[in-house]
Amino acid sequence: MFEYIAENGSYRNLYRGEWAHGHSGAITVKAPADGTVLGTIPSLQKDEIDLYLQSARDAQKIWAAKPVNERARILRKAAQILDENADEIGGVLSEEISKGLSSAVGEVRRTADFIRFTADQGELAEGRSVGSENFPHFQKDKISVVTRVPLGVVLAISPFNYPINLAASKVAPALIAGNSVILKPPTSGAISGLHLAAAFKEAGLPDGVLTTVTGRGSEIGDYLVTHPLVDFINFTGSSAVGKHIAEIAGMVPLLMELGGKDAAIILRDADLDLAARLIVSGAYGYSGQRCTAVKRVLAEDDIADELAGKIVEQIGRLRVGQPRESADVTPLINTHAADYVQELIDDALAKGAKLLIGKKREGNLLYPTLFDHVTTDMRLAWEEPFGPVLPIIRIRDADEGIAISNRSEYGLQGAVFTKDINKAFYVASRLDVGTVQINGKPERGPDHFPFLGVKSSGMGTQGIRYSIEAMSRPKVIVINFQNS
Ligand code: NAD
Repeated sequence: MFEYIAENGSYRNLYRGEWAHGHSGAITVKAPADGTVLGTIPSLQKDEIDLYLQSARDAQKIWAAKPVNERARILRKAAQILDENADEIGGVLSEEISKGLSSAVGEVRRTADFIRFTADQGELAEGRSVGSENFPHFQKDKISVVTRVPLGVVLAISPFNYPINLAASKVAPALIAGNSVILKPPTSGAISGLHLAAAFKEAGLPDGVLTTVTGRGSEIGDYLVTHPLVDFINFTGSSAVGKHIAEIAGMVPLLMELGGKDAAIILRDADLDLAARLIVSGAYGYSGQRCTAVKRVLAEDDIADELAGKIVEQIGRLRVGQPRESADVTPLINTHAADYVQELIDDALAKGAKLLIGKKREGNLLYPTLFDHVTTDMRLAWEEPFGPVLPIIRIRDADEGIAISNRSEYGLQGAVFTKDINKAFYVASRLDVGTVQINGKPERGPDHFPFLGVKSSGMGTQGIRYSIEAMSRPKVIVINFQNS
């Protein structure tokens, strides 16, 4: 259905409701798994970006003036289009970012649910009124009417690993709140992002309300995030880029979801079968390229051998292969990413970690790798590999687990496995992270739960209602009256 986004293999941006070629340069997008050329995307230049942003600015007031149920109707229609075309779009996504086909289709369907729920929440939003009589020593002749109004033009910058879902988790709440949106997709994932934009266009979104801007982040990113026509930046990506944006963005409010080094703390009374199963799906699903992947196991020493054996067994059940085969572990997004994971593996080996399984590499396909006896002088204990390698760090007790977990620069999520609810709460309340999962693996969702990272893992809170709130602001109108 969406072939028209490209003309002879050249994908185009959504600009003023039309599919537009850039006037200078193009970037070739290749399938990470086998190098197949999937097409080109425009590499937009600064003068074009000015025009694109201006069109978003022009469209915003008209969009914001529409009643929320009209905005919700269009969102629901977009969700329906995604659902109806989940196989086609999932196929594109799977090939473009080397994600197992069934997960890719699942991502599209989850996105449709996300958009529908966003429409519902938008319709439910209500303002409030606050009287002055409850504030001490204040005259009792005022009442404020507080409504929420949009911020203006939202710049949504998304990462490669969920190119439909993480783009939509910015776009849909921004739109329902009455903003217009500039979507800057990642280079690997741009074609998927353009499909998402097409679903909104097909749903009847007015021209200019959603605009896509393709190009390399390293070339156009700074220009975009410092552009005077941007009113809000909603970014998901690496902590390095997020911190850079925070440094240069000035007074523009930011919402940032960044990297993670989520620890699973396994106490001696845990259900080890459950823990091993969830650790493996959490650590190696989509080859570990998930912000909330389990990236460290902190296991009490006396159960570590048994746990390690069970993890190895579970790893043996993973499907390693190609995205079209719906494999769990597929080639990584690019050679640079694979080389980085390799570096961490080599460092751990050189410093004496015990390799339990893995270390095999075929091009960018790294087999699931597990190390035991990882120590805190190894890079694998602290760095985010974003690949299928997992360290087990042995701990004396829960307190040592908490201390090692909290020494990380990251604070996205954590997990604790134990049958003792008191111990679970003891650990959960001491971890410096946004969310702690008790007897579950770290993960984003369901999408109306708040989702946030602390420290280098982010600022601000996402989750459908929270995102709508973040991309709107209170508008206060005070009525002064005679209270005689
Ligand atoms: P990345 O930081 O390399 O890129 C993210 C986006 O930023 C891309 O669209 C990129 O083009 C753009 N970009 C690059 N330089 C820019 C600049 N100077 N200004 C503006 N934009 C710029 O991240 P990635 O490799 O695509 O994604 C992986 C990272 O994202 C991991 O660290 C992962 O943990 C994190 N992530 C976090 C979450 C979360 O919700 N916390 C979710 C998914 C991924």
